[in-house]
Amino acid sequence: MVSGTGGYGRRETRSVRPHHPRPLTTAERQVLDPLLAPEFSGVAELRAQAHAVEVVGHCDCGCPTIHLAVARELPRSACAAPDRLAPVEAEVASGPTGPNDQIILFVDDGLLSSMEYVWYGDRPPAGWPRPEELTIVRTDALPEPD
Ligand SMILES: [Zn+2]
Repeated sequence: MVSGTGGYGRRETRSVRPHHPRPLTTAERQVLDPLLAPEFSGVAELRAQAHAVEVVGHCDCGCPTIHLAVARELPRSACAAPDRLAPVEAEVASGPTGPNDQIILFVDDGLLSSMEYVWYGDRPPAGWPRPEELTIVRTDALPEPD
């Protein structure tokens, strides 16, 4: 029983890890789903994995980057994933100065493994961008040289 809200959220958590695994939050899903919206080889399996994916860890720097786990019996994606990267990323407009932040998706062994916020500002972003702030970019769609 708690009287009032004064003590809320101030528990000592040094020895208590964040509750993992957990489902994606709405904000996380609103980034992951658009990343998997384009058609590329192996995306169907990644979409199926995204329905069942769990968050199993966070980046330590304070940014929203999450580590993901998928049940290993789910079909694996054949997406080529050079450097473990899915062939899509999200650009996040960061204002008039500085390079845009990016959100990239790692796939290990055909399974989603992390969604990483690559940021260039002075301090880590506090949360995921809103869907309308994202521009989805195909990284495998560069024109072939003639
Ligand atoms: Zn980080």
